[in-house]
Amino acid sequence: ETLDKGLEKSKTSFLGKLGKAVAGKSKVDDDVLDNLEEVLVSSDVGVNTTLKVIERIEQRVAQDKYLGTDELNGILREEIAALLSETNSGEETEYTIPDLPKQENGKKTPYVLMVVGVNGVGKTTTIGKLAYQFKKQGLKVVLGAADTFRAAAIDQLQVWADRVDVTMVRQDMGSDPASVAFDALESGVNQDADVIIIDTAGRLHNKINLMNELTKVKRVMQKVVGDAPHDVLLVLDGSTGQNAFEQAKQFTAATEVTSLAVTKLDGTAKGGVVIGISDQFQIPVKYIGVGEGIEDLQVFNKYEFVDSFFK
Ligand code: GDP
Repeated sequence: ETLDKGLEKSKTSFLGKLGKAVAGKSKVDDDVLDNLEEVLVSSDVGVNTTLKVIERIEQRVAQDKYLGTDELNGILREEIAALLSETNSGEETEYTIPDLPKQENGKKTPYVLMVVGVNGVGKTTTIGKLAYQFKKQGLKVVLGAADTFRAAAIDQLQVWADRVDVTMVRQDMGSDPASVAFDALESGVNQDADVIIIDTAGRLHNKINLMNELTKVKRVMQKVVGDAPHDVLLVLDGSTGQNAFEQAKQFTAATEVTSLAVTKLDGTAKGGVVIGISDQFQIPVKYIGVGEGIEDLQVFNKYEFVDSFFK
């Protein structure tokens, strides 16, 4: 239900445009396909993904000889779900972390989640919401404030740590992010933590710096937990459309991003970004943010998403 509400604007806008695209037409022809292409691009699905979808629909038109515009909605829904399936295998609705084998020293291996993304996209909020969900499952969570560039970033994360009542490892502003990450992992392992979430710097200063910094954080973490991080989550602001694509491009070039969180899908008509980014970068969307509240993060489920988008 929150998902339906969260995607309300995207859906209304998309279905509205789709309606106009087929107005007065009973058959899907080249005109309709041209209009559809515009609708998808303007919904921030992205040009490459849009062309892929159009191609799939063209194939169906060719195959069936005739495709009624009344069927277009259902077919689009199918094709988009199929497209999302290439990267999003999951039908998950729960926040789960995999069971990891014990470390060589017999200690529990914590699940290490490294979170990347530029300032303002909702990185801190997403970490707070995730910590809350994991804690609710009875898991022990430790946060590491390795975005040491801004004092505000550390303090904001602290607010969430206090709110959710989880431990946070921090150092002074300006300290080495890798050092904070190292401390957080050591502290987490000593506390028998199940999940350690590491916040990282949110500047896209330049590509080489970003790459070096993230590589160093990873390397240093591996001194404590050999196979850390288990997930590198890139947080993107879903309301920023093409900027989100650009950020995905830069972060995927700088480090191996293994999953995505797309925030602020409430209050935007740009929900198509979820489809386009996942497809273009071949990275699964794991979470979506649909509000500022602690409960307003959802595990991404492609079927629910597509249903809410088209319903
Ligand atoms: P950071 O700089 O990336 O750490 O961003 P913050 O987590 O501080 O979030 C920036 C702003 O976006 C804050 O006002 C958050 O409340 C807001 N925000 C984060 N996620 C969402 C979301 O899913 N929906 C809405 N509406 N606001 C969000």
